[in-house]
Amino acid sequence: MTSTTCHAYTLEHDKYLLSQRVADHIPPVDQIIRILPIQTLFTNDSIESFNMVEKVIQLKCQCNQYPWGKQGSNSLAATLCAKTPGTDFSIDENTPYAEMWMGTYPELPSYILESGEDLQDVLDRNADELIGKNTINKFNHTKIPYLPKVLSIAKALPLQLHPNKELASQLHQRNPDQFTDPNHKPEIALALGDFEAFCGFKPLKDIERLMKLAPLQPFLPSVKKPSFDDQTLKHVVKSMLTASDEAIKKTNDALLELPKEQFGEDSYIPELIPRLSEQYDKTDNGTVVALITMNYLKLKKGDSIYIPADGIHAYLSGDIIECMARSNNVLNTGFCPRADRDSVDMFTSCLTFTPHSPDDCMLPPKASEHSKNGKTQVYAPPLSEFSLLATELKDGEEETIKAIGGPSMSIVTSGEGSFKADGKEHKLSEGYIFFVAHGVDMEFKATKALQIYTAYVE
Ligand SMILES: [Zn+2]
Repeated sequence: MTSTTCHAYTLEHDKYLLSQRVADHIPPVDQIIRILPIQTLFTNDSIESFNMVEKVIQLKCQCNQYPWGKQGSNSLAATLCAKTPGTDFSIDENTPYAEMWMGTYPELPSYILESGEDLQDVLDRNADELIGKNTINKFNHTKIPYLPKVLSIAKALPLQLHPNKELASQLHQRNPDQFTDPNHKPEIALALGDFEAFCGFKPLKDIERLMKLAPLQPFLPSVKKPSFDDQTLKHVVKSMLTASDEAIKKTNDALLELPKEQFGEDSYIPELIPRLSEQYDKTDNGTVVALITMNYLKLKKGDSIYIPADGIHAYLSGDIIECMARSNNVLNTGFCPRADRDSVDMFTSCLTFTPHSPDDCMLPPKASEHSKNGKTQVYAPPLSEFSLLATELKDGEEETIKAIGGPSMSIVTSGEGSFKADGKEHKLSEGYIFFVAHGVDMEFKATKALQIYTAYVE
């Protein structure tokens, strides 16, 4: 035996004796985990793997059935929902399907495909890793601050506005069942194909010109002001909304009898009266307000409109991606049964007069700074809650969306391919929906022309 081995023996022997002594006092393993600070049990590497959270989470979402939705499999919201893995959703051809929601709003929350857990529960447990400190500090909660939806619209949605923060919080305090949160709800609507919408008011001079038509005289103020301004417009909207069923029916009938030329550039008005009257009724106050005072927009795929808080709007037809600040507050006054309408006084008192022309409504896309290969555009409304990315790839094309500073949610609306993020590869196909944590690069590859929409905050 050399001295070296002798020394080694002694050391090993000492360690053995020590471990025997320690073993007598060692509590069961589950107690160690509770008693000892975690650093004494794991190296830095193993702490990371111990705390590891999946940063890319595939989701299953749900679809609602408002009566204005498209019927059965004509509804994109329904077909995407049916194609989302794990939804167990089959389409009934006799049911209208209106909206698929992606997010953590309690009315129609998203669930984790793998475990079936509510996404919000997982976000609450791992808020720093998934939502990120910046977003948590900015909004003071661990929820996703926006709510993306796919809408499939067969007929006019209620004529509506979403109250601003101040009114929303008052309404929420007074009637939390109807106004489920104190937040405002500005929104954008991005056309996935042909999309018709009433949005904001026409320029005053155009409304003034139309208001010269004989059947509309009863809606003007009795004392004429020198100029037709927003106050006059407010009066007009209010008197149209409070008019009796009989008065509205008479107005629509009289407008239909006028020669088409009298409507000037707005020749769509006599064409839309029968269509809207069929959808709701000739007595619906929304018809006159929308056709005479609001911008009527016919949008194409990729066009987008922005609706500020308190902005008047009613979507008429098409499939869209809608994204809004996290809220579900709405005031309705037309294109819905009288019993479902909110107070006209409240509605008109919070009306805002932006936008005030068709151009004002538009939210044009820009090149996204997150795009590596230039295949992604961003729709960025002037608010802090969200922006929306549209990524379009032809067969074989690739795109990387460079790490975003907050949480994002992506939906594939058409095509097939794959998606690499956080060291894992995921399949992409129509109806696939993912939550992605802040700070993660996303690499998309199309095998069949891909269309992906990603809502995010940062
Ligand atoms: Zn809306």
